[in-house]
Amino acid sequence: MRNFVIDRVRNLLPYSPSEVSEGEVKLDAQENPYELPESVRERILERVSKLSLNRYPDPENRNLKEQTASYAGCARENILFGNGSDELIQLILSSCGGSGRLVVAPEPTFSMYKILSDLTGTAYMGIPLYKDFSLPVSEIIHNKPDIIFITYPNNPTGNSFRAEDIDKIIKSSGGLVILDEAYYEFSGKSYIDSIGRYENLIILRTFSKAFSLAGIRAGYLAGAPGLIKELSKAQLPYGFSILNQAILETVLDMKDEALNSVKKLIASREAMFNKLKEIEGITPYESDANFILMKIARISEVLKSLKNNNIKVREFSSPGLRGYLRVTVGTEEENAGFIRAVREVR
Ligand code: PMP
Repeated sequence: MRNFVIDRVRNLLPYSPSEVSEGEVKLDAQENPYELPESVRERILERVSKLSLNRYPDPENRNLKEQTASYAGCARENILFGNGSDELIQLILSSCGGSGRLVVAPEPTFSMYKILSDLTGTAYMGIPLYKDFSLPVSEIIHNKPDIIFITYPNNPTGNSFRAEDIDKIIKSSGGLVILDEAYYEFSGKSYIDSIGRYENLIILRTFSKAFSLAGIRAGYLAGAPGLIKELSKAQLPYGFSILNQAILETVLDMKDEALNSVKKLIASREAMFNKLKEIEGITPYESDANFILMKIARISEVLKSLKNNNIKVREFSSPGLRGYLRVTVGTEEENAGFIRAVREVR
């Protein structure tokens, strides 16, 4: 058969999405284990029932941008929406990457930066973090990247990088710096205040984690108005559904209720970390996000025990992370099940 698909796509090593199967405890994809509160879900349904589904949505997402800007602490002109932050990463790479351009990311990190660089024909270079998971600042700057992706706090290590290191990269690299704040609500640390100061800074956020909305696929980025205007040209018209607009407007109207689970998840993360610290052969790393990375002496036995207990976690195949696993903070019951299964290995 003729190759209808271009080499770049045929050669792509795609992301392996987390699958759902009956009865499984899903602690592998950093989803929020809690649904939105009933009061918020009811308001969403009410709102959706009144929508004019025969009409195209507001192409500018004006109301939603206004609300998001006020939540995030910037202006409407700074905001751009996408169907998940994955789509926005693709938008950045298809607009600012391509042949002759270089992406650099400290590794380990979120794998979509590389996958979407490959898809868009952008050269990608992963630079290992230092042993203490801090940023290799001079190595990053030295390579003169056009685009730098930094996850803040980092996935999968869970730490928030030092402010002076991030500042140095933004000021000295000359490239476009994307700070992916997917886990912002859990860390409470953000660079969004700096977008007015640096025209090469983009903040990326998602509704998939703290806001319990992984199912709808929604994220936003924030940057200088000129950059936002250019990026928006590469988006499809009406690319953001009226359903998503209505759901997000409702959720932001009720944000205190919608974000109810965050405090609970942070407390569960701390409790889980303290328990893990007590288990021989396990070294957990402190996390600012809704997951914990740990190094495990008897990893294959632990993975087997988790499998026997129907608990799904994230294992890693890259040589740097062999012997590590990452667990998402779940409900208290799920977390207890995880600890029990790990303790079963003696
Ligand atoms: N960035 C990071 C750092 C992530 O960990 C994830 C999800 N695992 C994403 C982006 C993608 O989020 P979304 O659901 O908004 O596409």
